[in-house]
Amino acid sequence: MVPGVKLVVLGKQGAGKGTQAVALSHHFVVPHIATGDMLRSAVRGRSELGLKAKVIMDRGELLSDEMIMEMVSERLCEADVRARGFVLDGCPRTAHQAAMLDDLLDHDTLDAALDIEVPTAEVLERLAQRRVCSDCGTNYSTSHPPRINWTCDICFGEVVQREDDTEDAIRVRLDLYERETAPLIEWYKVRGQLVSVDGVGPPDLILRRIVDAMEEHSGKRYAP
Ligand code: ADP
Repeated sequence: MVPGVKLVVLGKQGAGKGTQAVALSHHFVVPHIATGDMLRSAVRGRSELGLKAKVIMDRGELLSDEMIMEMVSERLCEADVRARGFVLDGCPRTAHQAAMLDDLLDHDTLDAALDIEVPTAEVLERLAQRRVCSDCGTNYSTSHPPRINWTCDICFGEVVQREDDTEDAIRVRLDLYERETAPLIEWYKVRGQLVSVDGVGPPDLILRRIVDAMEEHSGKRYAP
């Protein structure tokens, strides 16, 4: 079996992080941990965290590092993660989160920090077209809708536009990405953990590029 992996996925909103993180979690047989999905599920469940998170998420702003890292550290302690690793999608997003994650992982145990590179003009177009299943989070777009009437092909949930995919919230999120998250690319590069991949093209091809680039980076073989 392919070895497990500890991987964080960076990239602008709309770069395809979620799509590739799901595909990578299947490829490496490790859990996909997506902070945005965890928060949206807390919003749907109307938990205390969810009620706080909703207002901040709808504005496109970031939750506090402490709130996020508490949620992530709990998940990282679970047995499935301890057995094979994880694909962490949406965290870290700030230098403080990256340092806290490093502490949680006992330093230097990440296999790679993956940066999926897509030009801003392209992500803006993708985000305007993005639609998502409100139950399972599967992504669609106006050019690749589900088969039947905005009903999810996988779980039959309702496929909608995300509440934070408005023009204003997208602008805030991309600004925050440049200010808070993009500097992490250099941070991981200096530590020899960065793997950058061109994220323009069909999802299958991008997955292939990622696995190839990770093999080249680690010298390990990651084909199934
Ligand atoms: P996107 O990458 O398109 O912004 P996500 O689904 O990853 O979407 O995240 C949605 C929202 O959840 C973010 O805009 C932010 O409000 C919140 N969020 C997710 N991850 C984090 C994080 N690591 N730190 C702070 N806020 C976060």
